[in-house]
Amino acid sequence: KKSQKAQSTGRRERKDSTPAVYVPVERRPDIQESRLQLPILAEEQVLMEAIRENPVVVVCGETGSGKTTQIPQFLYEAGYGRDAMIGITEPRRVAAVSMSHRVADEMNLSRRTVSYQIRYEGNVTPETKVKFMTDGVLLKEMQKDLLLSKYSVLVIDEAHERSVYTDILIGLLSRVVPLRTKKGNPLKLVIMSATLRVEDFTQNQRLFKIPPPVIKVDTRQFPVTVHFNKRTPGEEYLQETYRKVCKIHRMLPAGGILVFLTGQAEVHALCRKLQRSFPTACGALVKKTAESKETKKSKNEAKLPKIDLDNYTMEGEEDQADDGILEEDIDLETHIVGVDDDDDDMDDMDDSAATPTSDADLPMHVLPLYSLLPPDRQQRVFLPPPQGSRLVVVATNVAETSLTIPHIKYVVDTGKVKKRFYDKVTGASAFQVTWVSKASADQRAGRAGRTEPGHCYRLYSSAVFADFQTFSPPEIARRPVEDLVLQMKDMSIDKVVNFPFPTPPDVEAVKAAEQLLVQLGALQHTAKPKNPKAAQSPMVTPLGRAMARFPVSPRFSKMLALGEQHGLLPYVISIVAALTVQEIFVLSGTPAGGPEEQAGVKHVHSRVAQLKKTWAGQGQSLLLGDMMVLLRAVGACEFAGCTRKFCEENGLRYKAMTEIRSLRALLTNAINTVCPGAKVYVDPNMRPPTELQAKLLRQIVLSGLGDRIARRVPADQISDKSHKFAYQSTSMEEYVFIHPSSVLTKTCPEFVIFHEIIETGKPYMHCVAAVEQEWIPLLVPNLCTFSEPVKDLPPTFDNDTGRVKCHRTSTFSKLGWQMPS
Ligand code: ADP
Ligand code: MG
Repeated sequence: KKSQKAQSTGRRERKDSTPAVYVPVERRPDIQESRLQLPILAEEQVLMEAIRENPVVVVCGETGSGKTTQIPQFLYEAGYGRDAMIGITEPRRVAAVSMSHRVADEMNLSRRTVSYQIRYEGNVTPETKVKFMTDGVLLKEMQKDLLLSKYSVLVIDEAHERSVYTDILIGLLSRVVPLRTKKGNPLKLVIMSATLRVEDFTQNQRLFKIPPPVIKVDTRQFPVTVHFNKRTPGEEYLQETYRKVCKIHRMLPAGGILVFLTGQAEVHALCRKLQRSFPTACGALVKKTAESKETKKSKNEAKLPKIDLDNYTMEGEEDQADDGILEEDIDLETHIVGVDDDDDDMDDMDDSAATPTSDADLPMHVLPLYSLLPPDRQQRVFLPPPQGSRLVVVATNVAETSLTIPHIKYVVDTGKVKKRFYDKVTGASAFQVTWVSKASADQRAGRAGRTEPGHCYRLYSSAVFADFQTFSPPEIARRPVEDLVLQMKDMSIDKVVNFPFPTPPDVEAVKAAEQLLVQLGALQHTAKPKNPKAAQSPMVTPLGRAMARFPVSPRFSKMLALGEQHGLLPYVISIVAALTVQEIFVLSGTPAGGPEEQAGVKHVHSRVAQLKKTWAGQGQSLLLGDMMVLLRAVGACEFAGCTRKFCEENGLRYKAMTEIRSLRALLTNAINTVCPGAKVYVDPNMRPPTELQAKLLRQIVLSGLGDRIARRVPADQISDKSHKFAYQSTSMEEYVFIHPSSVLTKTCPEFVIFHEIIETGKPYMHCVAAVEQEWIPLLVPNLCTFSEPVKDLPPTFDNDTGRVKCHRTSTFSKLGWQMPS
């Protein structure tokens, strides 16, 4: 009723104290007409009233209903851009850039007024009123100005993506909004999403005490018939996709085809193949330029290691996109009908799809779409295809919810997506191709029914679909907590334990992470004794900031930060990569099988023993122990081209060595991205470290694994004979032992560090290196309690506190070692 009244008086009514100023916009007639088709237009009055009356509003509507392009315009017209900016965040760069252009065009305003800012580029001016940006950019701005005084409204778009940055932003903004209200300069927050489980935002009392209103945008959705494949293709799914597109193109009536693949390289491969097989609508010229560009590109891609560089950007990327999350109560029946389990309607088509076509084929207008595609080329998907041709858009999951492509009647869904996975040991993340969630698959299918009934061809069986996850969990739930805590501290968010996350991580895990980070020196308690509260939230140190740049877990990022300082990055990278695999040598154990096999196994064992001895060497090299063996194994294997033959001949596990190899490439790429000055590369001719370097490496490893230290139990304290070579670690009461496979079993240094303890009969330390006692107070001071300076007293263990008791010595300068500033 309210809105009817408002409509009848022509303009919206004002409810609160902010000045009611309508800013006129002159749109082109064609734009005006197409806007009127968008479902969101019907909600303008209700929405704007809700925004005026509430500090926080959630808008929830199907993809394509007009949220991203229209809501910023509503806000602009209502005068929110007059004294301060209207900010819109996107998890993906592609959306930030392309939506800013679209909104500028629709409102007939210059790009100086409607602008964008992504990490390394932007066109923001002092005149900017509407600013699209990635969530990472806004987080950076909040570090400088927490209250965001430059903005009058913030719109968090694509909240259903549940990227870590979006979640953190919403948490922060839930506190900033009341602060701004208190200051008499209210900030409005609009949370927008496709169809999502809004409860995480609305029913979360810690986040918003008063649940924000939810404005739902109803969309007309036409029925989509879903066809499952009988058989689920394996590696050859790209080929299968190609066949399916060809079939649809040859056999089915007009209508655009939208294909979902996982990444840029795949998109290009399929586009090329389709362009070669079918005539293009715009003639040979277009084909030639498009092809030559793409061929060039993909040649470059082929040279890159398997893992993309993009994996490490702080901001959202197309490829990082998680699956869309649908509302739980979504009624699938209304928009997905006639699910059947075969593709009989095309079974009788001829199967010669792969052969190049005759001239009789309808021209095909093939367009790629992925996040890093230049904006002008992205723009092409919105234009109608040339007359008499069929539009085929080959996209990554950026087309799932971020961009709505018109004219689509058929969807070909591989059911796959690239997703970030975290290595359990190093915390390094890489993208892997995996199945989407059911919610995502349905969202993809829905893309076919926007303007008329459509079809979705799923290139997997209904049995495979049944095993899909219902929703994919928010990124925050998958990310290692230690890394999250350090990142947040680096963003100057002090109290991570109390942070109002939409989906909070485990509190105990957060506390443990803080403790580890303090131990490593990445965080520091700066509390004045009077303020016990502040004591609970340690602050990031310069070392912590240096560590936060590396995309690995804190122990390893500390090693990398120190390795960088000493020009030892390639070695440290290799050690870190090698520590991630359980065992690089073919497992020792009792040989099984007949005499011949036994002889073979024995031969390998003696080869391994011989290699270990050689690789461990003498002096400093030997003291680096098993870490040195790892390092030299990596170097030797790389030098030999990492062949299966080399590995087999030398008792190395081929799979482990190839894993190490790709992780090295991944870390090297990542480090070059975050610290361009480092200029590291994977050198196949890496020389073994010198004596001095080996010594420094021991110190570096000690700095990272400092809490995994053990001291040999003095002989006079041992009563039980079986404890002859026992060690006391800081973490366990029980004695621990150097694993028999270690190269340090004979040396038995007084102080060792180890990578992990594994119980196999006895608690064994694996991957051991020797350290000097005087290094301990300097390199892991947080693990020590200090007494008054007393010379020549060895550090001792305090079994109650689990800490090393040290007596201050002034060996600092002797080591030539400096902590980063
Ligand atoms: P939502 O955010 O609700 O998913 P959008 O605002 O992104 O919806 O899209 C609304 C409509 O605007 C869609 O039909 C889409 O195709 C169209 N659109 C978006 N960007 C462009 C563009 N650059 N050129 C032409 N049409 C566009
Ligand atoms: Mg949108």
